[in-house]
Amino acid sequence: MGREIETKCIHLESEEDCIKNYGAISYPIYQTATYAHPGVEQSTGYDYSRLQNPTREHLEKIIATLENGNDAFAFSSGMAAITMAMELFKPGDHLIVDSDLYGGSIRLFRNVSEKNGITFSRVDCYKEDVETYVQDNTKAIYIETPTNPMMNVTDIRKMAEIAKKYKLLLIVDNTFLSPYFQNPLELGADIVIHSGTKYLGGHNDTLAGFLVTKSEEISERFRFLIKTTGAGLAPFDSWLILRGVKTLGLRMERAQENAIEIAKWLKTQPAVTKVIYPGLEEHLGHEIMKKQARGFGAMLTFQLRSKEDAFTILEKVRLIQYAESLGGVETLITYPTTQTHADVPEEIRIKNGITDATLRLSVGIENIKDLLEELERVFGELEEKEW
Ligand SMILES: *Cc1c(COP(=O)(O)O)cnc(C)c1O
Repeated sequence: MGREIETKCIHLESEEDCIKNYGAISYPIYQTATYAHPGVEQSTGYDYSRLQNPTREHLEKIIATLENGNDAFAFSSGMAAITMAMELFKPGDHLIVDSDLYGGSIRLFRNVSEKNGITFSRVDCYKEDVETYVQDNTKAIYIETPTNPMMNVTDIRKMAEIAKKYKLLLIVDNTFLSPYFQNPLELGADIVIHSGTKYLGGHNDTLAGFLVTKSEEISERFRFLIKTTGAGLAPFDSWLILRGVKTLGLRMERAQENAIEIAKWLKTQPAVTKVIYPGLEEHLGHEIMKKQARGFGAMLTFQLRSKEDAFTILEKVRLIQYAESLGGVETLITYPTTQTHADVPEEIRIKNGITDATLRLSVGIENIKDLLEELERVFGELEEKEW
């Protein structure tokens, strides 16, 4: 539709609800489990909040618009959303999944989906010939781009072509860039996933997850699943995400600006052996990303000389906080080996390049001067230690 994305974060194209809600500018929190019927065989359109809730529905409409989907579904977490997406498959089905993924997704596939009879080929989709992994029972390709935490960039259009050729679904976890920077449905994906806990919420104060699609058929299945399994997002949490999304554009722009500065700064440090940020020209995925996204995001990963260096940094940070998660206004530093990717088997972790000297930074929206001052102090102590 006509409006720009910053506006779509705040307003729906048709706000017919506004009048009904006494003109409330902030969408009301419909904290109700059930709904009274005006008469027998009559309904207000709402029956029970597991199926539909106006606050959740308002949020779903906004997210659908941001991803240019026809429909979106809000879940209690990103993992709840991914679990629902896996319900599209049945025992005997095979999926091609990126080998570097959020640790929780790898854990879900290995420990839950496999038990349910689904098999997986783990492929480096950014560099391997994905087509050679397609089998008769293959049903989908599942990717993240850039990946968590190694920031590998996969060509979404290319994956969509393969998916189309073999009648597979293309599922893209778009958490790292948010709809502000990338819209996989526009590039041929069938389903977009978000951990709304991250950039969409943006304040590290609530968990949420989303599935977005253009397909009526998939949409109907998700509607049935949300009703049947009960993993829909609560009204208050829906409202928190609605509030967070309003500033998505501003936050993404500022966080990205900061990330570029930090990536450049890290490159000057003797303790850093590698900076992995797709916004750097030397990144393998830089050119692809320019073609399929409107920005490079604010996530970066870097390698240090040693585990000791990594630990010293984690011990010494103060303004930057040592915590899991990403995409909030606060800058967070993560140690993937024992945090986000702790349950990923060591051989997979090492193959993906995650070592005990790998750190991941989710750059927030603080003033860049303070972030650089903090990094200078912390890295300064590192060099003193060396001597
Ligand atoms: C955090 C994350 C998830 C899981 O989302 P939760 O909201 O924590 O359940 C899935 N994918 C990616 C890329 C993530 O960063």
